Amino acid sequence: MPGNNKTFVSLEAIGSKIKVGKDTQDRSTKSKQTQKKPERDFKATRSRPKYQNQRNIRSKQSSFLSVVIPLYNEEESLPELSLHLQEELEKLVNKNYEVIFVDDGSTDRSFLVIKEINKRNSKFKAIRFRRNHGKSAALAVGFKQAKGNIVITMDADLQDDPSEIKNLIMKIRAGNDLVTGWKKKRKDPISKTLPSKFFNFVTSIVSGVKLHDFNCGLKAYRKEVVDSLQVYGEMHRYLPALAHLDGFKVAETPVVHHARLYGKSKFGASRFIKGFLDLLTVMFITRFMKRPSHFFGGLGSLFAITGLIIDSVLSIQWAMGLTSLSNRPLALFGIALIIVGVQLISMGLIGELIIKNNFHNVQYSIKERL
Ligand code: UDP
Ligand code: MG
Repeated sequence: MPGNNKTFVSLEAIGSKIKVGKDTQDRSTKSKQTQKKPERDFKATRSRPKYQNQRNIRSKQSSFLSVVIPLYNEEESLPELSLHLQEELEKLVNKNYEVIFVDDGSTDRSFLVIKEINKRNSKFKAIRFRRNHGKSAALAVGFKQAKGNIVITMDADLQDDPSEIKNLIMKIRAGNDLVTGWKKKRKDPISKTLPSKFFNFVTSIVSGVKLHDFNCGLKAYRKEVVDSLQVYGEMHRYLPALAHLDGFKVAETPVVHHARLYGKSKFGASRFIKGFLDLLTVMFITRFMKRPSHFFGGLGSLFAITGLIIDSVLSIQWAMGLTSLSNRPLALFGIALIIVGVQLISMGLIGELIIKNNFHNVQYSIKERL
């Protein structure tokens, strides 16, 4: 109901409705701390005025909600989605919201539909890519434009329910920096749910953050998380892991999930291989980005030492006349291990040289400054 002030509930009010339980004590303390003076990532080469600007924008907009929606060929879903969203958002924050549609190069009438929605309510804005760049790119651009101190993301295909936004915000106000939805009763075919269970399990172990559902479209972020995340490739699958490894507090909350009503899923079988490669990237950039020789050097040393031991034993046996090396494939295996090991160690050293020359671009996630 547009403009209905009776239904207005401030974001703070939603937060204050949460019971202070056993472990919410330190969360609420943390919440106060994080609300003090949030800062974005500090880049050593950047000067201070830019960061101060960011702070001013934020303080003016305490309690402003941004909703970022990446979409690719979702013309049928958009009218219903926008109506439902408008109703929910006005209930939550009255007029203090913006919805940013990021049209990821749709080839159907999606953008025309968005134009109509924007005519009706100018709080629904849009960015349109010239071609399809992928969901991560769409999120990154939406994040850049979002002005709210809380940023919600959701899919455009009506699988995510706008009525869940309230719960996500409650969890943010309880002291979390990123809250991801958990599609507990997922309405997708088994060909998707089974591999995704495996991905969630592996990502959980690798990243050390215990979540059931990393890739739910419905998420809430504090603005400083959005500012610090670098979303590219297919990284949208691992945002909670990246945020956790950056030091942000990550939580999840069960959300209802609907079956797709219109169109079809935009991710084919290639999602698995791309997803796996991105998982390797996440592991690498979060653990070894700053010290590549620790990764390559460690693996290389292991290979080279194993190869050396194998070939030394064989050489001694050969010298004692116990064996002939011509019929011992193990000797070749040992040599291969030594060569690969030395190559890996060299790669690590080259990586170190690259980092040394680019150290001013390395980012550290700073929480506060006095
Ligand atoms: N999407 C996008 N760009 C793409 C693929 C998907 O913006 O290249 C959007 C899509 O329109 C939807 C969301 O990302 O709003 C999730 O996509 P989809 O529903 O196909 O994923 P699934 O639910 O099958 O995991
Ligand atoms: Mg979907």
